[in-house]
Amino acid sequence: MRILVVEDEPGIANFLKQGLEEESYAVDVMSDGVKGLEHALSGEYDLLLLDWMLPGLSGIELCREFRKQYKTTPVIMLTAKDTVQETVFGLQSGANDYIKKPFHFEELLERIRVQLRPATGEHQTFNLGPVTLDAVAHQVFKDGSEIQLTQKEFALLEHLLRNKGRVCRRTQIIESVWDIHFDYNTGVIDVYINALRKKLNFSKDENYIQTVRGAGYIAREL
Ligand code: CA
Repeated sequence: MRILVVEDEPGIANFLKQGLEEESYAVDVMSDGVKGLEHALSGEYDLLLLDWMLPGLSGIELCREFRKQYKTTPVIMLTAKDTVQETVFGLQSGANDYIKKPFHFEELLERIRVQLRPATGEHQTFNLGPVTLDAVAHQVFKDGSEIQLTQKEFALLEHLLRNKGRVCRRTQIIESVWDIHFDYNTGVIDVYINALRKKLNFSKDENYIQTVRGAGYIAREL
């Protein structure tokens, strides 16, 4: 899952990026409204987290412009403003939710999860052979025992499992798991795939995560 944060205070922006990456989200940060809108309109994001007061274009204006093209992508506003009128105004601009500064990170995280939860049911657990991934509790089990993964390994596995049975192209994986500073020419994905296979301790004939030559990877039941 990829999140765009538009926040002009470096301290808060860094705090958000770090915290959200620890939760295995891919995070891009923009520090002004104009660049923020430009990136938001690329359509590569699963959620936008917008500060209200921004140089260039306010979070509200950004949200309005964004909504002209993207009706359903969730938007959460960060705001120091908390009068009822201003909140209503914020939601009328098309934001799904708002959170007041200063906020507890856990609360923000919960609101993000609520927005990213699919509207149809609570399908947040994914299976692959003996492996189960719980996207909400952020845990992976194999045959009932918990497997410790790094944030990127988790994000990679989550992406593969959300797309089980479909080939995941390398560019899609990068967009979902890494940020815009990722160097496309490195072999990093292969390294992570191998680390993942190793940690999940698949034997030779348990080829659950397969390499599709020239295309990418696929997670599939055997
Ligand atoms: Ca600000």
